Amino acid sequence: MKTSFILDTSAILSGILAKPFKGNIWITKEILSEIKQFELNMLVDAYIEAGMLNIGHPSTNSIRKVINAAVKLGETSALSKADVSILALGIDLFLQGENVIILTNDYSIQNVALELGIKYKSIGKQKISRKIIWLHYCQDCGYSARIIVNSCPKCGSKNIKRTVSKYYKTT
Ligand SMILES: [Zn+2]
Repeated sequence: MKTSFILDTSAILSGILAKPFKGNIWITKEILSEIKQFELNMLVDAYIEAGMLNIGHPSTNSIRKVINAAVKLGETSALSKADVSILALGIDLFLQGENVIILTNDYSIQNVALELGIKYKSIGKQKISRKIIWLHYCQDCGYSARIIVNSCPKCGSKNIKRTVSKYYKTT
């Protein structure tokens, strides 16, 4: 079985591209545009030109699956478009029969990957062995929900905080 490593922005920033990989390396165009904010795009472009870095285009179906999982866990506000794209690419490559490992230090990506059954590895840090479900609450009126996107649906306040509603070990 082929191994496909999917890198998020935190993985690329950690300098992991300089290390040898046994398998294919993937990112998405959303990760690429995040990377362009840093001064690493020349390095990344060189890898793409050399054919060492593949750009994946995740399917709409898989993107939907990732968003559903994120909603369930209350992680929607913590995930960027780029984060969603690599998780969705992970599902697509897995469905194509590949052994998928997402390399990321981002806690929310790891949390959603756990929920989706996608393998991940941290770079330099320990991987999490627990799942967290977030709860968002309004500091003004006390309204709470798994997700509150921008402002409180009850009183309109933007004073939204996030707290842990459920926390369990998965090992
Ligand atoms: Zn409120």
